[in-house]
Amino acid sequence: IIHIENIRKSYFMGKNELQVLKGVSLDIQKNEYVALMGPSGSGKSTLMNILGALDTPTAGKYILNGHDVSRMEDNALADVRNQEIGFVFQQFNLLPRLTALENVALPLVYAGVSKKIRTQKAEHVMEMVNLTERMDHKPNELSGGQCQRVAIARALVNDPSLILADEPTGNLDTKTSYEIMDIFGDIQSRGNTVVLVTHEEDIANHAHRVIRLRDGVIESDVRKAVKADS
Ligand code: ATP
Ligand code: MG
Repeated sequence: IIHIENIRKSYFMGKNELQVLKGVSLDIQKNEYVALMGPSGSGKSTLMNILGALDTPTAGKYILNGHDVSRMEDNALADVRNQEIGFVFQQFNLLPRLTALENVALPLVYAGVSKKIRTQKAEHVMEMVNLTERMDHKPNELSGGQCQRVAIARALVNDPSLILADEPTGNLDTKTSYEIMDIFGDIQSRGNTVVLVTHEEDIANHAHRVIRLRDGVIESDVRKAVKADS
C-alpha cells in the first residue's frame, strides 16, 4: 500500500537548511500494523506528515495505492488525503462547538455527502469505537480517552485504507492508552493498515512491526512473529 524510496526532507529557514529525513526507503503492505519509534527530533512526525499527504518530500518517491503522491499538486494531494487516509493526532483536534457525532461526520460534509448518509456513517463508526452513548456530547463533556475515540471515529468515517496516528496516546494515562491501542488493533483486524508513532515500548508492543528512526534514517525495522490467539 505504501512504497517510499529515498525520501529526503529539509526545512529551510532563511539560508539555513535543516535536513530532517536523509534518505528513507520503506514498504508497508496492506493490513500491516506498524509502530514508528525514535528519539525526539528524529523525524517521525515529518515522515508521518509526508505519508499522510499533509506535506511533500524535498526529494524521493512516495507511491500510495499505486498513485505517485510525491509528484502531485495540492488539489490532488487533498483528494488523496480525503479518500485514502485517516489521520489521528495527539491533541485530538476536535471542534469544541460541535457534538461528538458532528465532529465525526465533518469529513463527510466536505465530501458533499447528504445529511442522512452522514449520520448513518458517523453512527456506524461511533459504534466501532464504543461511543454510541456519548454521541451528543461536546468535546469538553468527554474524557481524554473518549475524545481520542471520537478523533479515531472521524478518521475512519471516510473508510480510508490507511490509518496514520501521531502519538495518539501521548496525552492519555496508561489504562486509557491500552484501550485506545485495543481499538487500533480492532481496526487493523478488520483489514485496515495502521501506522502509529509512539515513544513507549509497551505501546509499540501492540504493533506487529517496529521501525526505529534515528537522525533521519531508519535504524532498525523488526517484524514480530504474531502468535495465534489461543
Ligand atoms: P518528537 O518525538 O519530539 O515529536 P519527531 O521525531 O516527531 O519528534 P519532527 O517533528 O519530525 O520530530 O522534527 C524533526 C526536526 O525537524 C526537529 O529538529 C524539528 O525542530 C524540525 N522541524 C519540524 N517541523 C519543522 C518545520 N515546519 N520547520 C522547521 N523545522 C521543523
Ligand atoms: Mg513528533
